[in-house]
Amino acid sequence: MSELEILERFLRTDPRDVGCDEAVAVLHVYVDLIAASQDAAERYPGVVAHLAACGPCNDDFAGLLAAVTSERSQT
Ligand SMILES: [Zn+2]
Repeated sequence: MSELEILERFLRTDPRDVGCDEAVAVLHVYVDLIAASQDAAERYPGVVAHLAACGPCNDDFAGLLAAVTSERSQT
C-alpha cells in the first residue's frame, strides 16, 4: 500500500459514506423522514455518515430541514 492510499483511507474514515451525488439525490426524502419523526438514520446510514463528513451537504440538509419544518408549522 502506498503512502497516498494510506492517507486516503485515513481521510475516508467512514466506509458507509455514500458521497455527495447519492446524498443529494435522497436528501429531500431523508429530510421528510426526519420531519415526520421516522427512522431516517436507520434507513439512510450512508447519508448520516456523509452529512457528518461533508460541510456543504450538511448546510444543504440544514437549509432543507428548516424549510420543511417551518412550512409545516405555518399550517
Ligand atoms: Zn457532500
